[in-house]
Amino acid sequence: MEYKGNPVSEGIAVGKAYLYQPYVPQVTEGEIPEDQAPAAVARYEKLLEGAKQELAAIRDRLEKAGDGDKAKIFTAHQDILFDVAMDEEIRDKITYDFMTPEWAIHKVYEKFIKILNKAKDDLIRERVADMRDVKNRLLRIAAGVPEKNLAALGEPVIVVAHDLLPSDTATLDRKNVLALVTEIGGATSHSAIIARSYEIPALLGVDGAMENLSHGQEIAVDAVEGLLVADPSGEVKADFAKKREAFLKRREEEKKFLGVEPRMADGTLLPVHLNVGSANDQELAAEKYTDGVGLFRTEFIYMGKEQLPTEDEQYEIYKKVLTAFGDRPVTIRTLDIGGDKKLQCMELPVEENPFLGNRALRLCFSMPEVFLTQLRAALRASVHGNLWIMFPMVGSMDDIRRAKAFVQQAKDQLDAQGVPYSPNVKLGIMVEIPSIALVADLAAKEVDFASIGTNDLTQYSTAVDRMNPALREYYQSYHPALFRLIGYVVESFAKEGKPVSVCGEMGGDPYAAAVLAGLGMSKLSMGSASVARIKKMLSGLTMEKARELAAKARSLPTNDEVESYLKAELAALL
Ligand code: PEP
Ligand code: MG
Repeated sequence: MEYKGNPVSEGIAVGKAYLYQPYVPQVTEGEIPEDQAPAAVARYEKLLEGAKQELAAIRDRLEKAGDGDKAKIFTAHQDILFDVAMDEEIRDKITYDFMTPEWAIHKVYEKFIKILNKAKDDLIRERVADMRDVKNRLLRIAAGVPEKNLAALGEPVIVVAHDLLPSDTATLDRKNVLALVTEIGGATSHSAIIARSYEIPALLGVDGAMENLSHGQEIAVDAVEGLLVADPSGEVKADFAKKREAFLKRREEEKKFLGVEPRMADGTLLPVHLNVGSANDQELAAEKYTDGVGLFRTEFIYMGKEQLPTEDEQYEIYKKVLTAFGDRPVTIRTLDIGGDKKLQCMELPVEENPFLGNRALRLCFSMPEVFLTQLRAALRASVHGNLWIMFPMVGSMDDIRRAKAFVQQAKDQLDAQGVPYSPNVKLGIMVEIPSIALVADLAAKEVDFASIGTNDLTQYSTAVDRMNPALREYYQSYHPALFRLIGYVVESFAKEGKPVSVCGEMGGDPYAAAVLAGLGMSKLSMGSASVARIKKMLSGLTMEKARELAAKARSLPTNDEVESYLKAELAALL
């Protein structure tokens, strides 16, 4: 059985699945008889002591392994455990309100989590995950459930989980983790960030992994192509071993290209931009090697929040990214939720076909205040850099005009308040719906730039749900129709002298990127993990050759023929 996933940290591994189910506390409202309060306080103190010991043991282990930074996380957890304000309130709730220790812990932690969630400072808000961790630890000890963590695995395994908490990933027994597979989580989730920093292959978003795989079952993970094979045959395993060897060799070679200019073999410059989902330092680290931000998926700053981020919070985040990139363009894509992207802080209607439903720009039109708040935040931040605002899921000229009217309204509101913004903000669209690609000549007259969202453009052009693993063979990223559509968009914008880039996954795929260069793309945008590889490919490719590849990719009849052709032609460069 094969499964698809999002390869957020490249690598290849074959091994036994270790199904990891973190403890989920079940806490119910509970009272104690008045005369039992002192005994309940004593029980609470025992829980504190138990948690303290566990934390000290993890810290020691990490320090011994030379992982001082990770050890600090657990010193912070200990501080939370003995936080005076929380500790006092828990004791009061047990002593005077006769709550069970579990219920008191739950109430007090949740109250403080709510307060932290409202904080303006990112760092303070990020402590919420740590507080949840400490709370779960206390409740688990109270339930008498032994600690199950990933710090001591005993043998090399592939960790499979629904999702991972910061403490799970931070304590990973690295030498025994061959790969990570989770059901949820994106490139900016904790699991992804830590996996990349450890160089552990990670495949996220593998739907139904916990249900379909079993503990100890042999699995093969290809976190380059985004594939998981359960019970691989001898043949598949041999194939994976070969792929792994080739991958490791390639990675070493590619790293040499990270810092070079994105220059093609004939000297043509093709700027390489970065896709980000937050303003975290880890994500912005690739700023050193890139020419701008081609896609800031702002929906990630709305995710996992109990409230919508405020205008000020968003302003600070956008300002940070704009400041980091100075004169280089930073393309902020407005909120793109719906489809597979859900928000905790916003109830979205249940729809039969969410990918064809009320998502992204359409949803913003139906929630003017949410949209205007984001636009005001972005415009305010524009004084700190070179801001480009981009609208997702544009299907028609009506969408463009309506979105631009919203920007004007946001500007009017700022003008009325006397709040400054840059007069040079560029407005552009994502081209990810065929209907807008086919009127690109008209669109190019009304916007400043376009960026092709190949993930959705493939989905909508081929009529294949991009999330449905059963339809993988029909989701054809090298379909000649796509290159024809993209070519038309580039030509239409070129006539107006306006830039077009690609920010979908194709931009970071070296085979497709070679074609995109030949189609006349102004820049390519990708996740940081693809930067070195794309620069390497470009350094060996002339524009003349790229044009030849592009002409062929538009004229060959099938996806597979295009793919085989490109792989053969570019084999020497990659
Ligand atoms: C795309 O559709 O190609 C894209 C870049 O947007 P997302 O993947 O966030 O839908
Ligand atoms: Mg998209």
